[in-house]
Amino acid sequence: MIDSHAHLNDDRYDVSAVVSAMDEDELDAVVVVGYDMPSSRKAVFLAEKYDRLYAAVGVHPSDCRGLTDGDIDELVRLAALDKTVAFGEIGLDYFYDDVDRSTQKDALARQLEAVKRADLPAVFHLRDAYEDMYEMIRSHRDCLSSGAVMHCFSGSKETALLYADMGFYISFSGSITFKNATKFPDIIKALPLDRILIETDCPYLTPVPHRGELNYPAYVRFQAMKIAEILDMPVQKIEEITRQNTYDIFKKIKRGRI
Ligand SMILES: [Zn+2]
Repeated sequence: MIDSHAHLNDDRYDVSAVVSAMDEDELDAVVVVGYDMPSSRKAVFLAEKYDRLYAAVGVHPSDCRGLTDGDIDELVRLAALDKTVAFGEIGLDYFYDDVDRSTQKDALARQLEAVKRADLPAVFHLRDAYEDMYEMIRSHRDCLSSGAVMHCFSGSKETALLYADMGFYISFSGSITFKNATKFPDIIKALPLDRILIETDCPYLTPVPHRGELNYPAYVRFQAMKIAEILDMPVQKIEEITRQNTYDIFKKIKRGRI
C-alpha cells in the first residue's frame, strides 16, 4: 500500500520508528505533505533522509496569509528535487473562514502558476468552496497538465464525478470509516476504480477502529478495507489498484519496496 497523503512533518511523530515499521506494515511509500513553508521544508528534509518517504510542497489555504513571491520561488525550487512528487496541499477552505476568501483565492492563483513552473501534479484541499474552486481550476487548466488529486474528499457525488471526468484523482481518508459517513458508499460506487486513491491525512482523521488515538500511515489499510467492503471486492485488489493509481499520478515515486 501507499499512504498518498500524510503529515509525518508533524512534531508528534518519531519518523525513524514509522519508517522502520514500513515493511511490517506493508507500506511501499508514504507521501509527506507540506501545508506551510516550514512543513514543506521538513517534508523535503524527510524525503531526502528516508528512501521510501516522498514530499509534496505547498501552502494550505488556512496558512496562506503573507505568502510572498520569495516563498513561491522557494516552493518551485523544492519541487524540482528528485523526491518531491507533487505540489500541495493548496486550495480553498471556506469552512474555517479564518483567512478571507480573496486572500485564499489570490494564494491559490499564484500557486497554480507555480504548479505550472514545477510541472508536477497538484494536490488540492477543498472544503465548502465548490463553486469558487471549480472556477479557479477552469481558468487555470493550462497549469494542470501533470494532473491533480482532490485530497481527503468531502464533497458530493456530483463534485467527485465532475473532477474524475477532468482526469483528477479522488482521494479518501479515514473519514469514510466514520459511523456518520453515509454518503461515501454512493460516491465510491459511482467513481471509476482508476480514479481512487487512499490516504490517512495523519495526524488527523484517525479511522475506525483507532478513533481517539494518533493516526499513522499504516492505518491507510482501514480505508482499503472500507472500499473493499463497499465494492464487495477482495481488499488485496483494492490495495493493488490504489497503489498503481498512486504511481500513475505521482510519477516520481520509485516502484516497489526499494
Ligand atoms: Zn493534509
